[in-house]
Amino acid sequence: MSELQQEPTATQGEGRYVLGDPIADNRAPDSPIGDRWDDRKFSARLVNPANRRKMSVIVVGTGLAGGAAAATLGEAGYHVKSFCYQDTPRRAHSIAAQGGINAAKNYRNDGDSVHRLFYDTVKGGDFRSRESNVHRLAENSLSIIDQCVAQGVPFAREYSGLLDTRSFGGTQVSRTFYARGQTGQQLLLGAYQALERQIAAGTVEMHPRTEMLDLIVVDGRARGIVARSVLTGEIETYLADVVVLCTGGYGNVYYLSTNAKGSNVTAAWRAHRRGALFANPCYTQIHPTCIPVSGEYQSKLTLMSESLRNDGRVWVPKERGDERPPHEIPDDERDYYLERQYPAFGNLVPRDIASRAAKNMCDAEHGVGPGGLGVYLDFKDAIGRLGRHAVEAKYGNLFEMYQRITGDDPYEVPMRIYPAIHYTMGGLWVDYDLRSTIPGLFVGGEANFSDHGANRLGASALMQGLSDGYFILPTTVADYLADAPFAEVPEDHPAVREAVESTHARIDKLLSANGNRTVDSFHRELGQLVWDQCGMARSKEGLEKALDRIPSLREEFWRDVKIVGTGDGFNQSLEKANRVADFMELAELMCLDALHREESCGGHFRVEHQTEDGEAQRDDEDFSYVAAWEWTDGGKPVLHKEDLEFSYVHPSQRSYK
Ligand SMILES: Cc1cc2nc3c(=O)[nH]c(=O)nc-3n(C[C@H](O)[C@H](O)[C@H](O)COP(=O)(O)OP(=O)(O)OC[C@H]3O[C@@H](n4cnc5c(N)ncnc54)[C@H](O)[C@@H]3O)c2cc1C
Repeated sequence: MSELQQEPTATQGEGRYVLGDPIADNRAPDSPIGDRWDDRKFSARLVNPANRRKMSVIVVGTGLAGGAAAATLGEAGYHVKSFCYQDTPRRAHSIAAQGGINAAKNYRNDGDSVHRLFYDTVKGGDFRSRESNVHRLAENSLSIIDQCVAQGVPFAREYSGLLDTRSFGGTQVSRTFYARGQTGQQLLLGAYQALERQIAAGTVEMHPRTEMLDLIVVDGRARGIVARSVLTGEIETYLADVVVLCTGGYGNVYYLSTNAKGSNVTAAWRAHRRGALFANPCYTQIHPTCIPVSGEYQSKLTLMSESLRNDGRVWVPKERGDERPPHEIPDDERDYYLERQYPAFGNLVPRDIASRAAKNMCDAEHGVGPGGLGVYLDFKDAIGRLGRHAVEAKYGNLFEMYQRITGDDPYEVPMRIYPAIHYTMGGLWVDYDLRSTIPGLFVGGEANFSDHGANRLGASALMQGLSDGYFILPTTVADYLADAPFAEVPEDHPAVREAVESTHARIDKLLSANGNRTVDSFHRELGQLVWDQCGMARSKEGLEKALDRIPSLREEFWRDVKIVGTGDGFNQSLEKANRVADFMELAELMCLDALHREESCGGHFRVEHQTEDGEAQRDDEDFSYVAAWEWTDGGKPVLHKEDLEFSYVHPSQRSYK
């Protein structure tokens, strides 16, 4: 890609990056939005079933996106190599998803439609997503439910037998399908069974406990990966005609998050270093309803599903610093602030709005619990209205989880919750076909940036992962493979050897540091810094502070990290160090992205840019673009802008009042 190499002018962060050529998605057809996906499917080239056996596809990741993609491509007859670092594909982080999955089925006849789901998602993302992609997502939502029901996913049903739904934030219809508070688990078991079927049929070769550490790019095309067996420490190469990354999000850059402890950015980051642009890294989602941090040595946060806001009411005491237990605070001394500030959506405002409102309440000293960092989520009224049994049937496992962690019984006392990092909207840049900027490298699920703009609506990540995996990648990967066969890549090709050698060198360097600080202590410091300066509220001053600190922290890490054990076998300290090393680089790009984006939108809240009511103030004139960053190996990152056009949902100041 050629670069204009200009210094940025009108935007902030001068001197820290350079502007490159604009980038555009050229693959969405130019037809009316409702026809685009049909048109693209029809124009996509096909591969003769007899030829598919001769073609190989690497799919890294076995969550909903990767599991669905590998199973579907295997069923189509390609030779698929599937990878995950867990002991089994079904332990992918998707299994943790609780609340549900959206689909515009309109079973409730409450006014839902594909267009409304499209509209809600574009608006929910604060007009920073691509209309074509979002419309396709809304269309595919219908097929996802059919596919999963056919697999036997036990969605909740009403008495009549029809699938039940509930509401999630940012919508006024009930379109979220669920399986108690274990929707991700049940959907993943469906994808996993489809995958297992292909493993048994011999079309999918499964490599669990195998962590991708680099991407192999040969003559400009992605042709394989370098991976390490986390059991034996062996470094191996795997080659194929095409590589698909479905490796999840990077929320663990913050150290404390609701993500699985192992979730990381390594695969995406290594691809970025090999030439894939990384888009909108500063768009991260802080979820409003998590169990608050309880101590300095905590290593994990726990989500309380958004579905709880269907029936739970959020409140704080009206009086500052009120330390009375909740049951002693009478109703007229409680501030149900979401219902007061946003009467139209009430407790079901989108996540960015609910999180900021909770922070504002705590900043104004109305917070409850230790340090005043909490607000109540109260089910008293719901239990009174529906009865304990009905509440238990809907949310029983979440209540049990809360009680086990906090010792409080939410049937008796309100839950205490506080926002926490949960999801990342940024990720590798992809076009409509989910192709990255490296030919032959596709990206699906949370690992790409594509559909959610600056704020993801609840229950739409599972929808996107399955839309990418079951429906989009099988079509678009086939279109790419229609150009195959590609030249055979020998194991001793210089590009393969270089990738293997640099992986060995990196591991040796980490092991030889033999310093004094644990990986976790570095990770915790990095996470705190990013949380403080690039978390719920961001400022020019804070981001510059973080950008000055991160390079020195990274240098200290490489000099002073202590990794016990060797690289020759199971070594979790080494695994973590590899991941934290990449978080150290990503964190810098996140802060740069946040600094350069001189506006507030969705989860990216720059304190300098807010409305009189304290809401995010977008600047559509200057920032209606996707920021896609290019790695320059020691040089200044290069920013490529993809202009966003809105022809169907006109950008407006979001209002949930
Ligand atoms: C607690 C919680 C609850 C949630 N609830 C909901 C919900 O109710 N509804 C909703 O829509 N969304 C929900 N989400 C978000 C949603 O779960 C995720 O966005 C989604 O599951 C991501 O799926 P994925 O397939 O992209 O990646 P993941 O499920 O994260 O899978 C990543 C895969 O990549 C593999 N991998 C990663 N790196 C490597 C590597 N270097 N080498 C080899 N393998 C690698 C992992 O082994 C894993 O198999 C929730 C998230 C959390 C944290």
